[in-house]
Formats: sequence, C-alpha cells, structure tokens
Amino acid sequence: MRRSLLPLALIGLLALPMPGAQAAALTDDLQGLSKQQVEDSVEFAFGNALFFLFHEAGHMLVSEFNLPVLGREEDAVDTLSTLLLLEADGEVFDTALTDSVDGWTFSAEASEAAEEEQALWDVHALDRQRAFSMVCMMVGKDAEKFKESADNLEFPEERRKQCVGEYQKARDSWFGVLKPHQRTDGQNNKFTITYKCLFKNGGRARG
Ligand SMILES: [Zn+2]
Repeated sequence: MRRSLLPLALIGLLALPMPGAQAAALTDDLQGLSKQQVEDSVEFAFGNALFFLFHEAGHMLVSEFNLPVLGREEDAVDTLSTLLLLEADGEVFDTALTDSVDGWTFSAEASEAAEEEQALWDVHALDRQRAFSMVCMMVGKDAEKFKESADNLEFPEERRKQCVGEYQKARDSWFGVLKPHQRTDGQNNKFTITYKCLFKNGGRARG
C-alpha cells in the first residue's frame, strides 16, 4: 500500500457505522482519560484496525483469485497483512505492527484472566501464537527495528535468526502468487461484492 493511500483507509474506517450501544460504551471507556491517553488509545485502535483490514483483504484475494493456500488460511492472511505493513515501510505502519502484537498479547491476557478455554480446535491460531508469528516476520525483516517487540515476548534469539529465511520465503511466496493478478495499464481487476451482517445478537467477531 502506498503511503498516500493511508488517509483514504483512515477515512474508510472512521466511516464504518457503530451501533449506538457500542458508541455509548466507548464514550464511557474514554472518560477520565487525559488528552494524550485518548490520542494513544485512538492510535492503538487504528493500528489494530489496519492489521485486520489487510487480514480481511487477504481473505478477499484468496477467494476472488482462487489463490492456493497451503496450510491454514487464517495464518496465511495474518502473514500477508504483516508483510503488507512491513513492505509499506513507514512509521505509521511500523507502529501498527507493534500495536497489533501488543493487541494479541492483551487479548490473550484478558482471556487468561477470564479463564476462558483455549480453543485449540479454532480456525485461528491462539492469540499468543498470532503475536509470535507476527514478530517472526518483523524481526525477519529488521531485527534491530523490532527488537523491543521481540524482547517483550521473550522471543528466543536462535528463533529470531530462523525468522530471516521464513520472512523471505513468505514474502516471495505471497508476492509471487499475487504477481499475475497485479493491475496493468488499461486493465481493471473485477470483484464481486456481497454484503452480509457479521454481528448476531451483539456477538464478538474475530478476523
Ligand atoms: Zn480471518
């Protein structure tokens, strides 16, 4: 994604309708926070939303282009989202990556505090595994830049070295299968858009 597209992505996210009850709950959560804390919270939410936006776009690409998926699709599109943010190579995107890793860690801690069952059968990897997989790609590309995220997770040094090759393999694989579908001058890609409601009875959705 080119940097110039970021404002459009932001506008698109902000334009998403929020149910009244959720909007009221959000307002309650923000009460008592300083201006800086509100700004940090918004930035954190935006970074996590950007990761999910690219994750869902990955599902769309797999579906619309009938891309081969050798392994669990949820893992594959997590990897694509991470790669897109890494290849964008900008401060906003780097922050989105580190905030998303923190987001998975916070989500895991909340589940553990609530003593929720770890859904080993789920289509998604466990939240902590999703954090580690993201960090593997991040340190695979730039071990120094993302050292703090890896240190926070106590990511083993030996594993960080393996991630260099895994990042390169994942990058070459994803961009290799997408290359034939890249738009060329005078040619438009066609997508069929189907709208459906993801929320039932106020339930929580996972990407
Ligand atoms: Zn998904």
